[in-house]
Amino acid sequence: MAIVQGRFCIFCGKKPNEKTREHVLPYWLLELTGDPTRVVTFGQDFSREKKPIRYSWSNYVAPACDACNNKYSKLESNIKPKVEALLRRKALSVGDYVELLDWLDKVRIGIWFVRHLIEKHPSKVSPNFHIESRIAQKDRMVAVYVFDAQPKGINLIGADSMIFSDMPSCFGLRVNDMLLLNISSDFFCSAGCGFPFPATMKLQIGGSDSGKMVLQNFQYPTDFKNLITKLKLFKPVVWLYQPIPWPSTEPSFQGGFLGHFNKFDSRLASLMLEGSHCQGALFRQFEGSVAVHRGLSESIELDEVVGSATTMLKNIAASIYDAQRFVFGAIKHERHVPDQEKKFQKAYHNMVINHAKELAQLYRSGRGWPQSPKT
Ligand SMILES: [Zn+2]
Repeated sequence: MAIVQGRFCIFCGKKPNEKTREHVLPYWLLELTGDPTRVVTFGQDFSREKKPIRYSWSNYVAPACDACNNKYSKLESNIKPKVEALLRRKALSVGDYVELLDWLDKVRIGIWFVRHLIEKHPSKVSPNFHIESRIAQKDRMVAVYVFDAQPKGINLIGADSMIFSDMPSCFGLRVNDMLLLNISSDFFCSAGCGFPFPATMKLQIGGSDSGKMVLQNFQYPTDFKNLITKLKLFKPVVWLYQPIPWPSTEPSFQGGFLGHFNKFDSRLASLMLEGSHCQGALFRQFEGSVAVHRGLSESIELDEVVGSATTMLKNIAASIYDAQRFVFGAIKHERHVPDQEKKFQKAYHNMVINHAKELAQLYRSGRGWPQSPKT
């Protein structure tokens, strides 16, 4: 079954001028991980009593316009050798990792988009929400895990949760014997990286500003922290954060970003990515220390994970759902709806959180890979 019901380009949100389709999981990745035409079970059809959906990975496609398809195929051809290098346990450069983070933004949002399309999800996808508006727009993170022996294959871990459906900010992508844990969310690591951040973020629900995020009480840290965030993860071989400063049109912020942020601010300038005015450096989290990498050609070697720090894939899979709850919980919901509706929404909110808890528990208990394609 082909998934082409959407009438807007997955990348730019405009009406596609050609009948071009984008493989959300690129074909090179399908080939690298097995038979690209293999059939997997993934997700549920909301229009057919949530029946499980089976389809071929190669039909995991979304509409795209010709121009965008060409533009993003360049990103795909750049990423392929980098993923292959990681699978050979080779170091990548800072520039490579920044591109990998862009690619993970693309894949993560693409999966969310297709999931809504194929599951005929009751909450409709807005054409305002598309891939281009989410690449390198929010603070982000990647943790790389490697394993001794895993069968060839892909897993999209976390993409089956209700949190992901609500807020596609965190997922895990297993590619053969490697797993990339990826997060991207508003101000997720700004505070820890020493960048201006709002102490309160309130997502407006109902009322005239529904869907908007209200940011309050901006704070200006003087340095980055030893632990960038309070997120607890199993030790990866590479753990990188990248803050993305928040643009501002206020004239008092000369740098075009919130906070005391301009070219004369030597402290913040020293934490920006080389040659970039809108992306922070990569902050590498080690146990008890942080290294800041600004130079695009700096090498990021793989760390060793041995002894008690090692763990099984199922536990790392479970930790992805815990990470989803961590990111989801950082944003408060402010409801402007009648009391009765508020009650219902709060109950739903708790259900969303409990669903992630249950999925984490399922993985942890070793009872398999619920709703996640295992091929
Ligand atoms: Zn487009």
